Amino acid sequence: MLSCHPLCLDHLKPDEVAFLKATAEFCTTEIAPHAANWEEQEELPRELFTKAGRAGLMGIMAPAAVGGRGHGKLCYALAIIEVARHCGAFAMNLAAHNALCVGHPLGFASDELKQKIFPRAVNGDWMVAWALTEPNAGSDTGGVETRATLRPDGTWEITGHKIYITMGLHSDRMIVMAVTGTTEKGKKEFSAFWIETKHSTPVRKVKTAGVRASNTSELKLERVTGELIGARGSGQSAALACLDVGRIGIAGMSIGLARGAVAIAIERMLTRVQFGKRLAEFQALQFKLADCEVELRAAEALLLQACVLADRGQKHTLESSVAKLYASEAASRACDRALQICGGWGYTRDTHVERCWRDARLCEIGEGSSEVQRIVISRALLKSAADQRPGLS
Ligand SMILES: Cc1cc2nc3c(=O)[nH]c(=O)nc-3n(C[C@H](O)[C@H](O)[C@H](O)COP(=O)(O)OP(=O)(O)OC[C@H]3O[C@@H](n4cnc5c(N)ncnc54)[C@H](O)[C@@H]3O)c2cc1C
Repeated sequence: MLSCHPLCLDHLKPDEVAFLKATAEFCTTEIAPHAANWEEQEELPRELFTKAGRAGLMGIMAPAAVGGRGHGKLCYALAIIEVARHCGAFAMNLAAHNALCVGHPLGFASDELKQKIFPRAVNGDWMVAWALTEPNAGSDTGGVETRATLRPDGTWEITGHKIYITMGLHSDRMIVMAVTGTTEKGKKEFSAFWIETKHSTPVRKVKTAGVRASNTSELKLERVTGELIGARGSGQSAALACLDVGRIGIAGMSIGLARGAVAIAIERMLTRVQFGKRLAEFQALQFKLADCEVELRAAEALLLQACVLADRGQKHTLESSVAKLYASEAASRACDRALQICGGWGYTRDTHVERCWRDARLCEIGEGSSEVQRIVISRALLKSAADQRPGLS
């Protein structure tokens, strides 16, 4: 059974519904039985990505012409929800892979480069990472110091330091954001490059609180050869466009994690007896459950808004930010309540509520923190209001 609200199905094509049912089946057989072990090992097996590629999960939105499934943003978000119910780390990898690692070259690379990238980036042959963040550039991407310079023979070489890169050192290829010069306005000019990961220098796998199975990497680049993705100087606008879709994925990841935790809490309420009563009979816990449901439905509705606009080809920066901000904060609250409902058992690693709780926290930070989303949202509102008042914009 699919986790999404039945209303979502009205916005999906029959092949998308079939894909989501197959994804739910994939989660039951390939993910659920192993997720706790991957977390313990702090590693996602390589063959999981190969299998996911064969199942269409590595190219959900990529058109069939390049080997993808050609589904919409809503189908992508709902697939991430299904995966996140069982494994936040893998959901995060899939969310980033589809929106950023595939979305970026698909939207901006030359046809010649696309021919090198596809279908391997979508069929599971290649894992791809997307590297923007640096020790001095997190929320403030203007702090990027990685530089790309043009060699006399017309090729580019890249030198810099990247941190917190999902799939980083396990990837086969990487998209790297670098400074290529100065704009007419005197700001840094950003461009994106396609590189072979084997030419980077590993620093470490970063130990994280949640999503431990994900390979979160720190690495250096020393005169690594890269191919320009899109026009020189288009890196920042391309990255922002990809992040609009990425944030839909993180909203989906948030909802899936919370749904996974709440399902366990419900089961616990029905089976655990204290003071001669099932937990389900305690109103204090019933109310926690009700609050989770209200907030998760609100998050799903906001996600649907963003996805419907995105699938119509309309701008959805504001809607994606609203959905990501609300869903991630609601998920943290829901996972926290679910853990509390489960009591001491919820805090143990005998169940995966505590894993959902740790994983959900990442969603308030990655792909733009909650504070950054509030900046994006308020800026959009103020700009739209100012644009309607002559002399203010
Ligand atoms: C597990 C994990 C996976 C990740 N994967 C990737 C990846 O694949 N690729 C990639 O490029 N990056 C990745 N990141 C990096 C992630 O996108 C950044 O961590 C995030 O953008 C926040 O940047 P920062 O950590 O440097 O925080 P900082 O920018 O140092 O922010 C610290 C705090 O200050 C707040 N803050 C910053 N600026 C402002 C402001 N102007 N107003 C108000 N508050 C502000 C922030 O919201 C935050 O609370 C990953 C991070 C993690 C933890």
